[in-house]
Amino acid sequence: MSSERDYISKLSTESQVVASGRPERTGDASLNPNIELSATFHAGGDIGYGRFGNASWNALESAIEVIEEGKTILFSSGLAAISAIFKTLPNGSIIVTSKNGYTGTMNLLRQITEVNSMQVRYVDVSNTEEFLTALNGANFAWIESPTNPALEVADLPRIIKAAKDQSVLVGVDNTFATGLNQKPLCMGADYSMNSVTKYLSGHSDVLMGSVSTKNEDLFNNISAVRKFHGAIPGPFEAWLALRGIRTLSLRLNKAQENAMELANRLSSHPNVDRVRYPGLPTDPHHHMAKSFMKGFGAILCIEVKGGAAAADKACESSRLVTYATSLGGVESLWERRQRWGSEAPSIPDNLVRISVGIENIEDLWADIDQALRAI
Ligand SMILES: *Cc1c(COP(=O)(O)O)cnc(C)c1O
Repeated sequence: MSSERDYISKLSTESQVVASGRPERTGDASLNPNIELSATFHAGGDIGYGRFGNASWNALESAIEVIEEGKTILFSSGLAAISAIFKTLPNGSIIVTSKNGYTGTMNLLRQITEVNSMQVRYVDVSNTEEFLTALNGANFAWIESPTNPALEVADLPRIIKAAKDQSVLVGVDNTFATGLNQKPLCMGADYSMNSVTKYLSGHSDVLMGSVSTKNEDLFNNISAVRKFHGAIPGPFEAWLALRGIRTLSLRLNKAQENAMELANRLSSHPNVDRVRYPGLPTDPHHHMAKSFMKGFGAILCIEVKGGAAAADKACESSRLVTYATSLGGVESLWERRQRWGSEAPSIPDNLVRISVGIENIEDLWADIDQALRAI
């Protein structure tokens, strides 16, 4: 009989996520890993101290490893994970990234370039030629796809290959798609990063981030950053996220099925000017998304007729859908992105991002429709 680890490694991803990160099967051993609450360990072992390792992290890391197909390390938040990757880049690095990316990343890059000599080239990620041109002489490409909140889709297979051909390191923010819809490491990317806060944990009760890589040296560099800068997750958060990740495929599949249906219905709503969803055949990114993604995700954006005030009124008028920022939980959320002063200027004033949850589709539709009619 093959070893437990070999056996699990041959299962489908959905089964692996359920089976991995569990204690050994011996009499009265717990089925679930315990929450490792010690900061201090007896001398003579592999961990040494609570900032260097924790059994609860290991269990969750092994579950993310099967999804992303790379060695994985956790951080205290998604942004801490991104920040750790940028900290490994040499001074003077030239970074290519999206001009419409996640606001936290955009703010971080602005701050990094103020305090050291790194340069950032901002591109339209869905314009592959522009991206490829910008790679010339660069050291690092940071690709978020689909982007938050513009929902642009980058030609990941082509851009990653071009970058690797020129020895440019590539990191992908895989938060919107998750490893179930696309596997950046299998396309050749050096890092795949997740805000575990979102789909992986899935219940809006945990902040956490992860970095996965197939490269041992890069893994060691990132591990050193976590160890020395100290952005470690809590053991309870790791346990909660592991509990959440067991149902990732169920939650994501249901949420993206709901998102597709809502995108279709919203496309003909009288108070909606435009729907952005890569799953819509009419969406400018549909063809690209379809060419390599397994699913289109569960985030969609609408541009509300009547401008910012009308969009705010709609968000304030929903009951089942919560007016809040964040995404990836079982519960549907929406918000007008430009209510944040830090959102990219290219995002329209009336754009509302909807994180579609797993509620009943008719209940969701009735609530969104009444909120849009209240404006
Ligand atoms: C939320 C988010 C992050 C940051 O994650 P936190 O866990 O909130 O720090 C990074 N990238 C994307 C695409 C996100 O949506």
